[in-house]
Amino acid sequence: MYLKRIEMQGFKSFADKTIIELKEGITTVIGPNGSGKSNIADAIRWVLGEQSIKSLRGSKSLDIIFAGTQNRKSLGFAESSLVFDNTDGTLPIEYTEVTVTRKLYRSGETGYYINKVPCRLKDVLELFMDTGIGKDGYSIIGQGKIDEILSNKSEDRRHIFEEAAGIVKYRNRKEEAEKKLEHTKLNLLRINDIISEIEGNLEPLYNQSEQAKKYLNLHEELKNIEVGLFLHNIDQNKQELQKVTENEAVTKAQCDDEETKLERTKNAKEELKNNLDEITSKIESMSNLGFESQKEIEMLNSDINVSQTKISNNQENEKRFLLEIEEKKKRLQELEDEEKQKEEKRENLRQNKEKFTKELERKATRTRQNNRKII
Ligand code: ATP
Repeated sequence: MYLKRIEMQGFKSFADKTIIELKEGITTVIGPNGSGKSNIADAIRWVLGEQSIKSLRGSKSLDIIFAGTQNRKSLGFAESSLVFDNTDGTLPIEYTEVTVTRKLYRSGETGYYINKVPCRLKDVLELFMDTGIGKDGYSIIGQGKIDEILSNKSEDRRHIFEEAAGIVKYRNRKEEAEKKLEHTKLNLLRINDIISEIEGNLEPLYNQSEQAKKYLNLHEELKNIEVGLFLHNIDQNKQELQKVTENEAVTKAQCDDEETKLERTKNAKEELKNNLDEITSKIESMSNLGFESQKEIEMLNSDINVSQTKISNNQENEKRFLLEIEEKKKRLQELEDEEKQKEEKRENLRQNKEKFTKELERKATRTRQNNRKII
């Protein structure tokens, strides 16, 4: 089994998707300071489940997402995958190629995947247990790791050697078994406590069981009595049912009689109702007639009042006209007198005219005679 490919996108300085193919033999990564060599080792440890941000040389988990540069915007997620050749079956999984992926979004959402199937961190750790691969395994010797191996502290060295010897799995199992044993011991203690508590309660429990037995006997007796009573009640109910059935036939005949009577009464009631309706309509038409007559009388009275007013007006007018006739007669008399005077005056004037005409003719004749004499 060997690591054959590393894929990174958005991880630290690797903004674009970067694929590093690892051929057989030794692969060396060379580059200037700050070009991202250690970031590759960080990506490997991160995928293998590194939880310490300090070990990944950051201060918070989002520091591993590409933070942007002067010419490029930051990214929203970081993703790295390790592709292992598993043709020798070292990894306990039925695939010849195993891809382990870890993703982190800026929202904080994160996830692990084995061959693109979502899984837990525990599954990733178990997959690599005792293979020497792991965030703390001896297969990643970072800066300072050599110091750890050469350290005087036996605890630091022990972990590396155990991993190399492939006994971590058994050590973990032993620890788990010890924990279970401890848990079982505690349970045993609790069971002993419960047993001694129950033993103290045995006497009262015996008394309670005697009482329960007595109760059960009495309950059985009560059940027999209740069954007997029930059978007795059934007999009585049967007899009553017989009586009720007989009464029902009589009652049914009475009921039929009453229904016929009811039918007759209903018919009579219907007839009376029709009569009543007829009378009511007659009363209504009469009262309408009375109402109309009343209206006519009121109209006639009002006509009479109008006529009376007209009569009194006419009488007054008559008086006024008589007076006017009298006045006109007087005026006529006056005009006749005046006419007569004017007639007399005209006669006088006519006689005067005749007289003056004759005088004029006479004077004219004389004038002519005088004129002839003068000539
Ligand atoms: P040295 O040889 O000095 O150890 P190196 O090649 O190992 O250097 P790294 O330490 O891997 O380089 O990379 C450091 C570079 O990664 C720095 O330039 C830093 O700006 C860049 N870097 C780290 N984190 C991020 C991030 N989140 N986004 C963008 N760039 C990052």
